[in-house]
Amino acid sequence: MDVLFTITSTYTPATDLGYLLHKNPSRVQDVELPFGTATVFYPEANEHRCTVAVLLSVNAVDLVRGKTVRTLDQYVNDRPYVSSSFTSVAIRVLFGTALAGRCKDRPELVGVALPLEIRLSAVKARPGVLQRLFAPLGYQVEAEALALDPQFPEWGMSQYCTVVLRCRATVHDALSHLYVLLPVLDEQKHYYIADDEVDKLLRHGEGWLAAHPEKEYIAERYLKRYRSLVQAAMQQLLASEESADVEAIEESREAAAEQEAELEKPMHLHMQRLDTVAVTLGNLGVRRVVDFGCGSGKLVQRLLANPQFTEIVGVDVSHSALEMASSKLKLKIHQQDRVKLLQGSLVYKDARLTGYDAIAIVEVIEHLDPPRIAALEQAVFGAARPKHVVMTTPNREYNVKFVGLAAGHMRHRDHRFEWTRAEFEGWAQQTAQAFGYTVVFEPLGPVDEALGGPSQMAVFTHAN
Ligand code: SAH
Repeated sequence: MDVLFTITSTYTPATDLGYLLHKNPSRVQDVELPFGTATVFYPEANEHRCTVAVLLSVNAVDLVRGKTVRTLDQYVNDRPYVSSSFTSVAIRVLFGTALAGRCKDRPELVGVALPLEIRLSAVKARPGVLQRLFAPLGYQVEAEALALDPQFPEWGMSQYCTVVLRCRATVHDALSHLYVLLPVLDEQKHYYIADDEVDKLLRHGEGWLAAHPEKEYIAERYLKRYRSLVQAAMQQLLASEESADVEAIEESREAAAEQEAELEKPMHLHMQRLDTVAVTLGNLGVRRVVDFGCGSGKLVQRLLANPQFTEIVGVDVSHSALEMASSKLKLKIHQQDRVKLLQGSLVYKDARLTGYDAIAIVEVIEHLDPPRIAALEQAVFGAARPKHVVMTTPNREYNVKFVGLAAGHMRHRDHRFEWTRAEFEGWAQQTAQAFGYTVVFEPLGPVDEALGGPSQMAVFTHAN
């Protein structure tokens, strides 16, 4: 039996680690793995320090006979407990719930970053590689080379080292990091790589791998020798690159959107609004459509579900919104021909956007400074000149119905204005006339007899 790894928490109370790992500190547990038996126990468990240890006793016969290993040579040359892939498998089997980010008894602990110390007994890796892999994720890395045989120091040092990783992280993140990165260190994986390895890599790398400076190396090594799999993984990772930054930026964007969303949530207004726009575009017979100010791609997603829309272009001025849309949409290869995401602005003429059946502009115009609206008119109705323009914007009259919205306030701190029905209709009529369109209006959401709907839609149609 050899110690595979230990994880120590010094969070107070440190024994919370037991809840997070779904393993009771007072019990010793044996668990069968594909290549032997793992024993989980806590050598220390008090309020200030709690350590879980995973021991492995390898079943050498199974290992050699089973599909889990390719050659006997590999087993003989590489003491199995050294194998980092084994550690990875052990993590998945022993701590699967924690790896998935769940904690049954104390769900509030899942998001808590704890001071953790992870000790890996014998890892075959050069310290430089360990640094490259773990330091960008906030780990302090210590590696100490092991003697080939402690009985014969004159034989020199082995290629193995004891590794200590210190960080402040959620148990979920730390386990995901180990799960993905330890096999990356392994020269030879001890189990076959199945198609779902890409999924596993992406699932467990979610939230950190896309932003990792060594992501290409990690994907390549994790999915060793399987070129097409590596390419598939890279494609998806690149799609969500910067997602970490996007999240930070989006957080502030979403903090602002939150107030609006909170106000409108009880009536699922935004969903209704997007559904109505998608249905309206469908009924108009639109096939090629631009969603201007697409944000995180909620309308694009709805349009994708309807095969009538053969070409869908999401445009936003914000690069981070587009990154968000791209990572949220998780486009399948066959959908990639149908959807394009472009950076662009509503107030500039853009040759890429001419000749479409329709342009949707959902909850965007109120984000423009009023003096820019004339430029929008020129760019959309004058230059791009689609057959239809479907536009929605809040109806200010309805604001008095929102409990929690102070009188005279707008729904979103980035709104530059909010129009009454008469103001919106006045502007739309005038614009339609100036550019040769007709326009009809429809309230969105539950209609109040005096105040109208909470949101309003204008459908412009080009006269010829
Ligand atoms: N249409 C989406 C997002 C609405 S939020 C939805 O209904 O869910 C407003 C969006 O408009 C934001 O993503 C913002 O980045 C974008 N936007 C603001 N000004 C813009 C401009 N001048 N050109 C293009 N997009 C703009």
